[in-house]
Amino acid sequence: IKVLCVAGARPNFPKIAPLMKVLGETEGFEVHLVHTGQHYDDALSRVFFEDLKIPKPDLDLEVGSASHALQTAEVMRRFEPVLEQEQPQAVVVVGDVNSTIACALVVSKFPLKQPFMWRGKPRHRPVMIHVEAGLRSFDEEMPEEINRRLTDTISDLLFVTEMDAVTNLRNEGVAEERIHFVGNVMIDTLLAARDKAMQSGILEELELEKDKYALLTLHRPSNVDDSTVLGKILGALDEIAAERPIVFPVHPRTKPRIADAGVALSPERWKLIDPVGYLDFLRLMSSAHLVITDSGGIQEETTVLGVPCMTLRENTERPVTLSEGTNRLVGIDPDAIRASWKAISQDPPVGRVPRYWDGQAAKRIVAVLAREFGVQ
Ligand code: UDP
Repeated sequence: IKVLCVAGARPNFPKIAPLMKVLGETEGFEVHLVHTGQHYDDALSRVFFEDLKIPKPDLDLEVGSASHALQTAEVMRRFEPVLEQEQPQAVVVVGDVNSTIACALVVSKFPLKQPFMWRGKPRHRPVMIHVEAGLRSFDEEMPEEINRRLTDTISDLLFVTEMDAVTNLRNEGVAEERIHFVGNVMIDTLLAARDKAMQSGILEELELEKDKYALLTLHRPSNVDDSTVLGKILGALDEIAAERPIVFPVHPRTKPRIADAGVALSPERWKLIDPVGYLDFLRLMSSAHLVITDSGGIQEETTVLGVPCMTLRENTERPVTLSEGTNRLVGIDPDAIRASWKAISQDPPVGRVPRYWDGQAAKRIVAVLAREFGVQ
């Protein structure tokens, strides 16, 4: 069975890595990797291939940045000839970026030259597989929410990280045979990389001490695109920085907007750095007193690490990190940020690791695929 795996942006790489590995080791599957090039700079892409030992992509579509419509269209335009050439029986997409929906949409209408037998019937299109399905923020202002919903609708097999996502899919009327609760491939990567990450020299390089700093990431358009909003957030965080220095690996989307935000981020309180590689970031998260973020994946990673996380958003598509983990949904109101910081400092949240976030999710997925495709 020929499987094409698709990755395009930073959060995709830790999800695709364990799938590539396990599929590559399982007899009966031939696996290829397509990089759409949605993220292309070294800090958001190449370093992940090195840190996570992801094989070099078989194909790089090099789409780069553009508006949503242009980027989605460009991925579609460049991905269709790949299917034409490769004729895969299955395509795996992960997460919720534009490449995810773009490739899923192409696959779902792509006629194979040679139909194959699937579930007892001739199948004329590749089987479409979505890993990290069913997550919903119920916030349609978020481009990722549109990508998630649409990708799930047109995927045949939906692999799910948490029970809330199973409930969402059931509520949308998705047939049970499409839903598989298998756990979290991103956590497979975290657990596999943990020991190696502890050897990273990033704390020493930045002159940081364990537990003595907070770590910040910000890149959601709703938080960073408007300089007044960004200024309000950074202003509130500057008060925290007076007590604990804040390490801030600045996303390329956010970088050009910081100057306009009108908050002086003094070097005594703030360490502004470029985005760091996966292993360095894992070390930074593991040793932080607190992580402050608007990222999706980081809410999950901090839950597994047992590190308190303040999420600067009004909603989360990953509610298990609140109900079981160490995540706190704070929003961006300065009073709420202050109050949450105080509460977390006095009484740090203690959580537990959600079910199946145990390093075996990719194996569970490949076991399901082996069954579905009759691979022994
Ligand atoms: N990450 C990283 N270096 C950084 C910031 C994040 O390696 O400087 C990793 C992080 O550990 C997680 C992934 O990037 O695995 C999350 O990506 P991002 O926050 O961009 O995307 P989201 O999860 O919000 O879609």
